[in-house]
Amino acid sequence: MTDNRKALVLFSGGQDSTTCLAWALDRFAEVETLAFDYGQRHRIELDCRNTVRAEIARQFPHWAVKLGADHLLDLSLLGQISDTALTSERAIELQANGLPNTFVPGRNLLFLTFAATLAYRRGASVLVGGMCETDFSGYPDCRDNTMKAMQVALSLGLDTPMTLDTPLMFIDKAATWRLADSLGGGALVKLIVEDTHTCYLGERGELHDWGHGCGHCPACALRANGFAAYRAAA
Ligand code: ZN
Repeated sequence: MTDNRKALVLFSGGQDSTTCLAWALDRFAEVETLAFDYGQRHRIELDCRNTVRAEIARQFPHWAVKLGADHLLDLSLLGQISDTALTSERAIELQANGLPNTFVPGRNLLFLTFAATLAYRRGASVLVGGMCETDFSGYPDCRDNTMKAMQVALSLGLDTPMTLDTPLMFIDKAATWRLADSLGGGALVKLIVEDTHTCYLGERGELHDWGHGCGHCPACALRANGFAAYRAAA
């Protein structure tokens, strides 16, 4: 059963957004991908996107026919907003909140608005993103209620139904690995392990059983622990 709508996936090239891409390809008639370039510390994740898209197309022919255009939007202006020299007072408050001072407040709201604007132009009525309350509850603009409010605001503002799908919202990292397994089997899990990027430090380094990365930063630890739990239950 294919949903005839066209979906636009917020696709950064990491584990979560690659799982979301597979989820969308499994479900929708047509799927396009989008990433934002805002001067990330590590371009490695953006570089991984092309490899992941190419490998998905090569290994999953029934998904390849649905995989449409890729878009990369330049949002380098976010660097101006996150500059702590310009926003020092608020930056101190942000740190008191437990959020890093490089945090761009409401960043996800901006991303979703740009994504919806592009989706409208491309004839897509579904946005798919890897937002998750389970792993990063510190980010209020990734919470489920924020997504629901954005869905209403975007649909009203564009005067057309715009659905926000977040398949990872309430699942942990082990369940994200399981979801990938259920969608594309061992081949998709292997592709995610080898070709996606998650490490905060931008390290590729050696290939662990859960993927490349430093193995110690919070993102690597989350991914590695999730993978271990997924394997233990398999
Ligand atoms: Zn790392």
